Amino acid sequence: MNTYPLRPTFAQIDLGILKGNVVAIRSLVKPAKVLVMLKANAYGHGVEGVAPYIEPFVDQIGVAILDEGIALRKLGISKPILVAGGTLPALVRYYLQYDLTLTVSSYEILEVAEQVASAAGKKIKIHIKIDTGMERSGIRWYESHPFLEKSLECQNLDIEGIYTHFANSETLEDGLVDKKPAFSYASQQLSRFEEALAFYRQTGVPTPRLRHTANSAAILNLPESYYDMVRPGVMFYGVYPDDEVKRPIRIEPAMTWRSSLVYSKRTLAGNPVSYGSLWAPKQDTNIGTIPCGYADGYFRRMSGQPYILVNGKPYPQVGRICMDQCMVDLGQDNAGLGSEVILLGKHPTTGQRITAENLAQWAGTNPYEVMTNVSARVPRVFVNEEADKRL
Ligand SMILES: *Cc1c(COP(=O)(O)O)cnc(C)c1O
Repeated sequence: MNTYPLRPTFAQIDLGILKGNVVAIRSLVKPAKVLVMLKANAYGHGVEGVAPYIEPFVDQIGVAILDEGIALRKLGISKPILVAGGTLPALVRYYLQYDLTLTVSSYEILEVAEQVASAAGKKIKIHIKIDTGMERSGIRWYESHPFLEKSLECQNLDIEGIYTHFANSETLEDGLVDKKPAFSYASQQLSRFEEALAFYRQTGVPTPRLRHTANSAAILNLPESYYDMVRPGVMFYGVYPDDEVKRPIRIEPAMTWRSSLVYSKRTLAGNPVSYGSLWAPKQDTNIGTIPCGYADGYFRRMSGQPYILVNGKPYPQVGRICMDQCMVDLGQDNAGLGSEVILLGKHPTTGQRITAENLAQWAGTNPYEVMTNVSARVPRVFVNEEADKRL
């Protein structure tokens, strides 16, 4: 497990922390089941390490696209895998081939799935997606009853689930934050979901076994959204979806983005650092070079804003962030070649921390984009501090 790359820049993923986050989520939502979202390379954490480790602690796994589901099967994952995004008719056969759960959001895909399953003599597992106010994909709640009626005719589909997705569940129920509406759009979406589910009550047909709606924000803010299963994404990785969510459980970030100084020099006052000559020191200073840049996902648009931990102490990043490198102003401190750098995460002894929220603010984005943007050139190193401590 601990094969460190040659490159000193890597993302260290603490598997024990991920497990702790799942355990905390589970205790909050029980008896609801937990589907963890491993889309987008496990939110940048490296699905090849995260998926096999976490599989025993979850009920289901969610991904966005077919290819991600197939990749998980090829990794040996055997738990149910829900592909949440839309698909094309020609791709439906792969859901059968790889035993993936198909999200059905249209009559067209419903019919194709029934045909493909019937031709193969096997059932395709599906979850029906209800659009309750996102206008992305899904059968709109006010048109759902005829669709659900139609779904009952499909003899070759195993309708395991029915679900919806929130557009802004981070808005607190009692949210009086000035820029946000005081009513909760998520609550409105929930009642629309109930309107769709009323079909089953009215017809006496049992509801699909898994009704689910809750992403991370809803898990934190809206207990009435849990139903039979929840779908945590960002909070599984230890990051809150928004500043405004409630925090009923403790979660910890699992990713530490590390590097080392590969160069360090004295720069004299007035000599500009990096492309564009945007910044020069007012007095002579020590400038360190870090082998990590925007091609690694360290956003160029952050230039001049971040703090970076060198030997556990924060220093300002200065000058343009380059494709492969960036510079840090060490002031009068000395830090030589090989000095320990943390771009994201907590220093184990000084406790200094740079969060995904910090990077998001510097980059003008959200923590999701920060994490999913750590590029393929950055090796993922999986550690398990919890297990290591027990040895
Ligand atoms: C990504 C995703 C989630 C997880 O969202 P978070 O905000 O990261 O918790 C849940 N459900 C669906 C359908 C998703 O695509």
